[in-house]
Amino acid sequence: MTRRSAWYLLGLTAAWLLTGPIAGAQPAQDLPLPRLYVLEGGVLVSDPGSYQLREDEVASTELSIAAYLIVHRNGVLIWDTLGIADEERIPEGTGAEQTIIRSDRQERHVTLGPPLLEQLAEIGYAPSDVTHLALSHFHWDHTANANAFADATWLVHPVERDSMFSGSAGGSARPATYDQLENSETILVTADEHDVFGDGTVILKAAPGHTPGHQVLYVNLPRTGGVVLSGDLYHYPEERSLHRMPVNEERGGATGPSRQAVEAFLERKQAELWIGHDLIAHRNLNKAPAYYD
Ligand SMILES: [Zn+2]
Repeated sequence: MTRRSAWYLLGLTAAWLLTGPIAGAQPAQDLPLPRLYVLEGGVLVSDPGSYQLREDEVASTELSIAAYLIVHRNGVLIWDTLGIADEERIPEGTGAEQTIIRSDRQERHVTLGPPLLEQLAEIGYAPSDVTHLALSHFHWDHTANANAFADATWLVHPVERDSMFSGSAGGSARPATYDQLENSETILVTADEHDVFGDGTVILKAAPGHTPGHQVLYVNLPRTGGVVLSGDLYHYPEERSLHRMPVNEERGGATGPSRQAVEAFLERKQAELWIGHDLIAHRNLNKAPAYYD
């Protein structure tokens, strides 16, 4: 076991002890308030240089991988589906390092978190209980278990869907992880803000640039406050504080305007940005079975 893996397991154990009472499954329609579960996807080796950041400028070079389950009286939405599919996990399991090969043959190294479907089962949800699926975008570290939710209603921008199935998804994608969505019941989202459950508490907001139909998700939690789940609008929190972005998104790209629009949205909603890849912030969140409401 590497030292990083040991620390990771220790962190998981500590998080387990601190998460408090187990929520247990609750039918969505009985819930007076939306509820947000943070799911764990492990740790990704990354190079800050890809985001125009030096190693000495970032608090952690490694990134977290995250997914979230939003339980609402009108439905259950999963937001992103992690980087390693449950069925392709190496037998060594949680805390072990697994290598993924992207479409462009580049390798990525992930320290495994717990299997996604086990995390859902622990809070009482099977994939068939999930009524809606939305991905921040189609890159491999967000789509690994997407096919498990092919029976849910998929919320996607038409240009994102076109990229995914036209052969132009590019090297960061692993189309085999999401190919079954092609036949899913689909809502093509074209509005800048799309109200998922009709009461303004869960809103998809367009934030193109990282991919053509990249989006972020706003969840209004009465006790916690408003939260925006960033997708890959930012990876490192220092991209936000130091105003950096991937070189290929910088010139004439949509990421800059999308960041401005999301910052204005955060201001308007008085919401907090949760950067899914921010290892330290993600580590400090309460993970399922604990939840935010
Ligand atoms: Zn990502």
